[in-house]
Amino acid sequence: MKINENSPKHSKKEESNFCLECGECCKRYYITLLPKEVEIISKFLKISKKKFLENYCELNVKIYPKSTLGVLTYPSTFFPNKIIELIKKKSFEIPTSFFVVPQVVLKRENKLTQTFFNNEPKKDFRKACIFLEKNNFCKIYPKRPIPCKLFPFIAMPDLREQYPFCELFKNSQKDFSIESKKYYSRIQKYFKEVNKKSFKSIWFNPPKSGELFYSDTLLGKISIEELIEMMPKK
Ligand code: SF4
Ligand code: SF4
Repeated sequence: MKINENSPKHSKKEESNFCLECGECCKRYYITLLPKEVEIISKFLKISKKKFLENYCELNVKIYPKSTLGVLTYPSTFFPNKIIELIKKKSFEIPTSFFVVPQVVLKRENKLTQTFFNNEPKKDFRKACIFLEKNNFCKIYPKRPIPCKLFPFIAMPDLREQYPFCELFKNSQKDFSIESKKYYSRIQKYFKEVNKKSFKSIWFNPPKSGELFYSDTLLGKISIEELIEMMPKK
């Protein structure tokens, strides 16, 4: 797919004189997408939602041991053997159930990017968002997902020290706490819907595969079939 050459490309510089355009924020995180954002971005790219999900997105599944069944919590007896084997490598005991957090995120890929070290530009080969272009432009900037729009002001004030690498954060006291709260309540609504209706019914054409994490530790790859098997309809 060829991006429309006339698409506006901007950088965060337009938002603040303090942003170094280092692109570090686009190299560190998995960007969560909500179904509505998939609609907006695929329209912007002039491709179908299916194609967008296939080419630019992947699964991101986090599991947390939990002893009581409840919202998005499933017995480990449902888990495919491959997943159980991956968990065994990290934990001696297999808990009876897991809280499963399934998300669709923007793909990340290894690419040569420009970063800043001691304020000097430097090229490095790093995992970065699929939409991060050379010179740290964002290919979908006008329609970028909400976490990108709010960064680095998305964290609650007591968590703000988690972005020491970000010059914009160090120098600006912008407060997006109201927008951030609204965003987190949309995320909660998304998880409630997944719990009620199932992942597959919310994502008609979900990405075929992605990564599985045990809390924040990468366990390995996961396929959509394995995810569906782990989360049978309640
Ligand atoms: S969508 Fe754009 S702003 Fe967001 S992480 Fe990717 S490149 Fe960065
Ligand atoms: S990490 Fe901070 S300074 Fe660097 S591009 Fe992102 S917002 Fe700007």
